[in-house]
Amino acid sequence: MKFKILILVIVGLYQPGLKAQPFYKHFSNNTLRVDFSLCGDSSQTHLYINRVLCEPGWGGRINNLTESPDFGSFAYTVADAQSGEKLFEGRFCTLFQEWQTTKEAAHIPRAFTNTILMPFPNSNIYLTIIQRKNGFMTDTLIHLLLDPKSPLITPLHVPAWHTKTLLKSGNPHECVDIAILAEGYTANQMDKFWADAQRFADALFTSAPFSLTKNRFNIYAVACESAEEDVDIPYKNQYRNTALNCSYSTFYTDRYLTTSDMEAVHNAASLVPYDQICILANTGEYGGGGIFNFFSVFSAGGTVNAKVFIHEFGHAFAGLADEYYSSSVAYSNFYPKNTEPWEPNITTCVNFLNKWGDLIDANTPIPTPNTSKYQKKVGVFEGGGYAEHGVFRPCVDCRMKTNEAVDFCPVCARSVQRMVSYVCGEGYKE
Ligand SMILES: [Zn+2]
Repeated sequence: MKFKILILVIVGLYQPGLKAQPFYKHFSNNTLRVDFSLCGDSSQTHLYINRVLCEPGWGGRINNLTESPDFGSFAYTVADAQSGEKLFEGRFCTLFQEWQTTKEAAHIPRAFTNTILMPFPNSNIYLTIIQRKNGFMTDTLIHLLLDPKSPLITPLHVPAWHTKTLLKSGNPHECVDIAILAEGYTANQMDKFWADAQRFADALFTSAPFSLTKNRFNIYAVACESAEEDVDIPYKNQYRNTALNCSYSTFYTDRYLTTSDMEAVHNAASLVPYDQICILANTGEYGGGGIFNFFSVFSAGGTVNAKVFIHEFGHAFAGLADEYYSSSVAYSNFYPKNTEPWEPNITTCVNFLNKWGDLIDANTPIPTPNTSKYQKKVGVFEGGGYAEHGVFRPCVDCRMKTNEAVDFCPVCARSVQRMVSYVCGEGYKE
């Protein structure tokens, strides 16, 4: 209810400029939410719709709706059913496509739940969801006619969690809205949650380039109550009854903390406007996870937790790849060497010039040797994306490589700034 009042106030005060008029021609200020399952194995993907919902309010951009950077493993488009005009586009990654690269996917079929959001249309639309194959968005998984007046589009029963605004910079349509969700906090631990959430919200802006763009962010906290504290830690035989069902040992990697319960996650986030979901886990165990336009998960305890949070947020918000290659992961051949990855901060040298070629000095050799002469230079350093050979990163060190790095490298920092502009409705300016 608080959120509905907030939206009414914003609509009342906000005078959309001429550029925003097409938004209100085609959409209302609510969210159309589509829950679906991605099912299959290492070579096949099938998509099945679970349910379609109307959530109160729309926290996303209202300008430059049809443009997106060529990011993500999946794209979805909304088109006017009568004219065919493209009205909206979104990009995302999922746990499912990460799992498809694990050994398990070669012999066991599995299903994962997912959710995508779009502004609520005024008239019939076609929703198309496409998966990237061999570097290109080519595989159409579903092409679906949706009638916004259908009685089967059900209003979401919004959960009764308390919320707080931790940072307010402006209109949600023109800011990056982050929802921090409590996970593994009991009803008696909410004072701790508010303090932890504020600590992480503040920590984000101690790091460039977030420190330079703080006035483009809104941050909200949602106090999801769990029956038990902490989260599942399978390698310690610890299993807890929690609001968002988070667990370590995703894909058998101990430090990889995620949840498969996307419906619970989005139900909780629906209490506030949101572009990004950050799940704050009430645990002292090291680890986290971040997936582009899906979520980031991080632990409240431990000594490097704020650094892990910023690293995971780099994945979820800006689509940044891991630049490390020496830690054990469950994936095999995550980045095929004959295909340029879509992530802006790694390359297989198929086409890196378009990514950060303009930041490399003319006298810097390529590949760039990891010597003291090039410690602070942008180049093309071998090792990244979980591979010691064949995948390259822009700098010797970066927040996307180690916890010791002070900040993001110049390539990652520029990508974050471009994504801020995009989410705020100004387009992704390369
Ligand atoms: Zn970097």
